[in-house]
Amino acid sequence: MRLSNRARTLPESGIRKFFELAEARDDVISLGVGEPDFSAPWAARTAAIDSLERGKTSYTANRGMAALRERIAAHHERYDQSYQPESEVLVTTGASEAVDLAFRALVDPGDTVAVHEPTYISYGPGIELAGGERLTVPTRAADDFALTRESLAAAGAAEADLLVLCYPNNPTGATMTDEQLAEVAAFCRDEDLRVVADEIYAALTYGTDHASIVTQPGMRERTVVVNGFSKAYAMTGLRLGYALGPTDAIDAMNRIHQYTMLSAPTTPQYAAVEALDRCDDEVAEMVEEYNRRRRLVVSRFNEMGLDTFEPGGAFYAFPECGGDDEAFAEALLEAEGVAVVPGSVFGAGGEGHLRVSYATSMRELKEATDRIAAFVEGR
Ligand code: PMP
Repeated sequence: MRLSNRARTLPESGIRKFFELAEARDDVISLGVGEPDFSAPWAARTAAIDSLERGKTSYTANRGMAALRERIAAHHERYDQSYQPESEVLVTTGASEAVDLAFRALVDPGDTVAVHEPTYISYGPGIELAGGERLTVPTRAADDFALTRESLAAAGAAEADLLVLCYPNNPTGATMTDEQLAEVAAFCRDEDLRVVADEIYAALTYGTDHASIVTQPGMRERTVVVNGFSKAYAMTGLRLGYALGPTDAIDAMNRIHQYTMLSAPTTPQYAAVEALDRCDDEVAEMVEEYNRRRRLVVSRFNEMGLDTFEPGGAFYAFPECGGDDEAFAEALLEAEGVAVVPGSVFGAGGEGHLRVSYATSMRELKEATDRIAAFVEGR
């Protein structure tokens, strides 16, 4: 069949390509996938089951169940974010849909969208599908992968129309402080950039509180925040996320959403209400466990000479392997059966690094880091 140019030219995900290699063997320990190894809290699962028993299988409101939007708005007060549940919250099919809608609602063909890299792989294709041009803003290991005013200016982001901000970051685990975000916010105000802030890892920070650009002066009205239930509540398969933003942006996103998705799936919305009402303790336990694993992984990599900065959030470490990261990852998989993702998959600044997910049991992490140490020793 003849395909659209758009579909034909969309590149395949570099992560997926790599995992096909790993799938060919059955002794592989994967530190590759970016999803929790936990199940959703039982209370949330029970609420989903209960909703089905009560026959709740219809559409919800386009914007999502009112009860859920209220909980989401209330939940975000912990980040000093204040949104009206009726007009400034949109429940989506995963954070993925929220990112896609934000691009489609905010980007005109030919608009330039600045993306700091290394970062999550879906932004580039999303921008392209919306007709925008991606402008890469490299971040540096020397800055612990924080975005700086200097790197924005050096990349020519003053000419951009929109900035995609992802902290805590996938793949580096980097977080940004309020002071660092103040610099970025000043740049955005000075150069009139709007922002899509993907804060899906906001609940997964270690020893620091999540800082959001929305709390900087003048930023709330120019920012759409994306978040969701996949990471913090281990609900990846339930496909539920949301966007928060000024009424005009959320209205525009909802107009697209009502034709393309109609409403986010109903069953997980019941689970999500319960997650927000009652699952803070489970989230805290998962964060504590990730934190133990994070300390183990970071210290093991540093011991074996693969320099790793202290990631403040998400569930990724980003050790330096030097040289050709793709060749390193392939050889590691071949020799020791450990799958990691080459850093260059995530764009500029990722070369010479590996993304290592520690959303895996302590036992597997110990075994995997032993194998990696043996591999490094043997090189
Ligand atoms: N944003 C980032 C930064 C992510 O890492 C992911 C998942 N890998 C998503 C968005 C997509 O999340 P969801 O499952 O809610 O669509």
